[in-house]
Amino acid sequence: MSRWAYHLPILAYHRVGPFRADHVPTVSAEAFERQLELLARFQYRVLPLEDLISCLDRGERLPRRSVVITFDDGYAETHTVAWPLLKRFGYPAAVFVAPGEVGRAGFATWEQLAELARDGIAVGSHTMHHSYVPLLSAERLQEEFRQSKAVIESRIGRVVQCLSYPSGGFTPQAQAAARAAGYLAACTTNRSLPGASLDRWALRRIKMTERDAQPLRLLAKVSGHYDCFRRLKRPN
Ligand SMILES: [Zn+2]
Repeated sequence: MSRWAYHLPILAYHRVGPFRADHVPTVSAEAFERQLELLARFQYRVLPLEDLISCLDRGERLPRRSVVITFDDGYAETHTVAWPLLKRFGYPAAVFVAPGEVGRAGFATWEQLAELARDGIAVGSHTMHHSYVPLLSAERLQEEFRQSKAVIESRIGRVVQCLSYPSGGFTPQAQAAARAAGYLAACTTNRSLPGASLDRWALRRIKMTERDAQPLRLLAKVSGHYDCFRRLKRPN
């Protein structure tokens, strides 16, 4: 039933920029810019993920016509391509990085991430090594969540509030571990526990593609009712 309820749309991007011969979901700079333009034209407010969390804390209704923008993995293009476009529109965003990948070929460096953080882009954790969470032992789970949080905080000098489960995979144990590690919320993909209510330890996100530069597709995705248009997957 709750599947039909309003869910503040959280958009999930991976790489924004040129298409490459790999499996990274990519949206071109042109399509991304067009999507931001459409959000502005339809008078959507782009909120920081923290605002959504504080809304949940206060038990307030989520504001309509709002949207949150997130990026997984922390590709170099998040800094070089997406950020300048976000800046032009004055839109905040969150980027989830795995410290084990930061600075590797194709990924943003710590300097670039610190620069984003100073400009209002929240940097969150994507585990230490981009690990598929349901396969981790209880001990590794704690390590991946706690260590990544501590490393990112020491490198960028800000508190890390959110976690994004790699590939969206999670379990009830992982949700409890995220809370115990000091996060305030965690994001998944189109995965959900049975019941599919709004869950701050598994906030569902909407995968964005090149084709979402079409106004009707974008409007469906930011309507707050996109779960009606898609199938939800099991959490693991
Ligand atoms: Zn990822």
